[in-house]
Amino acid sequence: MEKILSKALRRETLTETEALSLWERVPLQVLAAAADEVRRAEMARLRDEAHLRDEASGAGRETVSDTEVVTWQIDRNVNITNVCVSGCRFCNFHCRPAETEKAWVMPLEDYIPRIEETLALGGDQLLLQGGLHPRLGIEFYTELFAGLKNLFPQLKLHALGAPEVAHIARVSGITVRETLERLVEAGLDSLPGAGAEILVDEVRKAISPAKPSVSQWLDVMREAHRMNIPTSATMMYGHIETPRHIVQHLLTIRDLQAERPACAHGFVAFIPWIFRSEGTQLEKDGVRPRFSPTEYLRVIALSRLMLNNIPNIQASWLTVGAETAQMALHSGANDMGSIMIEERVVSSAGARNSFDADGIRAAIRAAGFTPRLRDQLYRPRPETPQPKIVNTPK
Ligand code: SF4
Repeated sequence: MEKILSKALRRETLTETEALSLWERVPLQVLAAAADEVRRAEMARLRDEAHLRDEASGAGRETVSDTEVVTWQIDRNVNITNVCVSGCRFCNFHCRPAETEKAWVMPLEDYIPRIEETLALGGDQLLLQGGLHPRLGIEFYTELFAGLKNLFPQLKLHALGAPEVAHIARVSGITVRETLERLVEAGLDSLPGAGAEILVDEVRKAISPAKPSVSQWLDVMREAHRMNIPTSATMMYGHIETPRHIVQHLLTIRDLQAERPACAHGFVAFIPWIFRSEGTQLEKDGVRPRFSPTEYLRVIALSRLMLNNIPNIQASWLTVGAETAQMALHSGANDMGSIMIEERVVSSAGARNSFDADGIRAAIRAAGFTPRLRDQLYRPRPETPQPKIVNTPK
């Protein structure tokens, strides 16, 4: 075990067998301490790189990373539509196209007060996601994005998971490349890592059989990296997967990141979160969420040790709560994520945690770190005004 841990501390690439050994045989406190050491080294590296860049550009210090800094963000989750043909067995948010009384597509005018409020609260970004609507093709999305950017040019659009991009390409009869090009031209700034769940076919087939496949998820992200679109990667665990599946998921993400062109953003962050079961089909079928804080901390630590080419690991306070998220900051995580104004998807399956800006700052400080507001690329942002409302499902 010592040899494997030393390898991880040197930021060398771990094999599946080595990673599984760490998971199964190393006590949490040892794993977390190693991940914390790697986090410090990674933050110091990013800080030094950023200092060099700042000096070269003469733009003054823009550095956000430091070994005792934990970043956070203000953005708003807005859902484009709840209509979805995928019917994932863990999702309470969607409705079938035939359920016409429940179905909605958000009109452009409904975005406006939400964006105005987000900007007034100090936010700079919308996380825009929705279901796989059978009739919404590329024209709908490009019109929406261009309309939003026309009204709010300063707003960043962190929008559409890889399954949505694959679905839009299929509905529109165009390639993934063309889909991404047209979305970027209309205003897409970055791609969230949603819809990954566990990137292992046997798991995906069991929990979301009608969703674009593992290889489609990877193809979209690969293309995004070739186009230098910043992306993130996620993992939803704690349902039917085994530790080997978790390790395989991490290896898949790391290998795809290694393929990205030199200097491309690639995955800027990795965000593992736990399955919330309340009222989901999986729960009705007898699957219970397997959440334990210690297992979550092992996942965070293993992610930091295995993902030696992804700089940021995010703690998911929404699904695990503030205290476990604070402990994650000592187990390899360096980011607390967003206060997520108006999150609805995970909340609809039982995640009841919430944070406002003061709360997230206080939680970071209480964990022993300095909070720093960031943008999607982990660059610092000024912190005025002081946001007061948050995570209020509407
Ligand atoms: S998770 Fe996404 S793709 Fe799956 S059913 Fe829900 S909205 Fe559709």
